[in-house]
Amino acid sequence: MTQRFDVVVVGGGHNALVAAAYLARAGRSVLVLERLDRLGGAAVSVTPFRGLGARLSRYSYLVSLLPDRIVADLGLRLALRSRAVSSYTPTERAGRPASLLIEREPGAATAASFRALTGADADFAAWQRFYGELSLMAQAIAPTMTEQLPSREALRARVVATAGERVWRQVFDEPIGLAIEETFADDLVRGVVATDALIGTHTSLRSPELLANRCFLYHLVGNGTGEWRVPVGGMGAVTAELIRAARESGATLRTGVEVTSVTADGTDAEIAYRDGDTEVRVGARHVLAGVAPAVLDRLRGRAATEPVGSQLKVNVLLSRLPKLRDGVDPRSAFAGTCHLDESYSELESAYQASVSGQLPDRLPGEMYCHTLTDKSILDDDLRGRGWHTLTLFGLHTPAGLLAGDGVADTLVRRYFAGLNRYLAEPIEDCLATDVDGRPCVEARTPTDIAAELAMPGGHIFHGDLAWPWLADPADPWGVATDVANVLVCGSGARRGGGVSGIAGHNAAMAVLATRPAGP
Ligand SMILES: Cc1cc2nc3c(=O)[nH]c(=O)nc-3n(C[C@H](O)[C@H](O)[C@H](O)COP(=O)(O)OP(=O)(O)OC[C@H]3O[C@@H](n4cnc5c(N)ncnc54)[C@H](O)[C@@H]3O)c2cc1C
Repeated sequence: MTQRFDVVVVGGGHNALVAAAYLARAGRSVLVLERLDRLGGAAVSVTPFRGLGARLSRYSYLVSLLPDRIVADLGLRLALRSRAVSSYTPTERAGRPASLLIEREPGAATAASFRALTGADADFAAWQRFYGELSLMAQAIAPTMTEQLPSREALRARVVATAGERVWRQVFDEPIGLAIEETFADDLVRGVVATDALIGTHTSLRSPELLANRCFLYHLVGNGTGEWRVPVGGMGAVTAELIRAARESGATLRTGVEVTSVTADGTDAEIAYRDGDTEVRVGARHVLAGVAPAVLDRLRGRAATEPVGSQLKVNVLLSRLPKLRDGVDPRSAFAGTCHLDESYSELESAYQASVSGQLPDRLPGEMYCHTLTDKSILDDDLRGRGWHTLTLFGLHTPAGLLAGDGVADTLVRRYFAGLNRYLAEPIEDCLATDVDGRPCVEARTPTDIAAELAMPGGHIFHGDLAWPWLADPADPWGVATDVANVLVCGSGARRGGGVSGIAGHNAAMAVLATRPAGP
């Protein structure tokens, strides 16, 4: 064994960088080991289209859950920009193109859109009340995410005192589908609400497991507003700031080194990794796993249960935004979340088809155009030409249904066909081409994501999301494993999931609650 550290962090995703920054600032010696030749895990930007200066967030793309407190503590110089529009959902009513457009601050235009779609004002009134109560819930829960876990009773008391009993029942006690069905009448309005419960989560909205509820909760609580903002410069800009913070704090960050085993006895640990052809062993007081729990299990020589991812991510470069059949300006339609075939009944049928082993007839997904909010990811040339990026996140496409060569291409064609039903011109006509004349489209199935990021099963949260309350009094930060000096600092921690840094912060706090190793 050549070297010893207070803390060795396995994996160099954004959570690992947050943990490393906090720990190094507190004076601990920290080594981060990342198998890829770059840091950031799923929070990165790439230039995927040959010869074109467009830097796209390849995997994760919007930020909501990163607490302002972490940004301030680590002195991160980040710009997160609000989108002008919250969402646009095209559909057909009585054989004619129709849609629902919801502003970021729903006002007169939103009210008019609800009325035109549903023929009444009731669902808009319900929308305002529902989200008003949820916003109070978010304000109650957000500050707890970077504190020791409250008990379920304490969290309930907080939520009920701020937002009322109904919200607690709807979000924490009953399947979220029931809340949506009891609150809204229109199938499309219900679907717009429901998608927040299904991003990266393969379940029914009526499932008594309440998995959709947890996903819904995490999509609504970020910083007490639940607003999803655009990282200026793309996700790579977020990671770049975290790298700077970790390095300037004194952490050692290594890339291109794959950890092959972790051995720990509660007070000491040994970590083996491959550095080129050499196997290196280092010692540590603590090991933090920035990798998924299933990866950690494998590294510890234990049987691992792999989660299953269920999404398709597509990144596209457009030479122009497509016109819409209903005449809405594409700069509004694609600025926020554009829902594709995500009515409530379509979401449920897609789920039911996928669990019975079939790809849904109508593939639900959502899109957004980064460059309508932030053009800095394009070089001067592409900006001058007025080109745009488009990102699609498809739901209910579990890994098991996507085996075989060319499946991603087939899915992309089907998504484009779905989108074309609402467009006045085919999306294919708007695709930019790279210097080799190839259309600028890249797609990632869960299998691709598992291979590229070592996210087991391609599950974007490293596993199912957990409730943000205390499950074990011996684990106040929700980061423990069965060995005292091995902690989870990645998305698989109790309050992990998403680009939040919360798991990294909380694991660092758990380590800092212990005494540093002696000289
Ligand atoms: C397609 C997609 C879209 C998403 N969209 C969003 C979004 O818009 N907003 C949002 O908030 N969240 C989104 N997410 C989820 C979010 O990106 C993740 O939950 C989050 O990035 C996880 O961060 P992490 O640091 O915990 O782990 P990861 O990002 O998974 O990083 C783990 C790192 O560990 C490395 N590693 C694995 N095994 C080893 C080993 N043996 N040795 C060394 N290194 C190893 C991996 O290479 C990786 O770099 C998305 C995820 C995906 C995949």
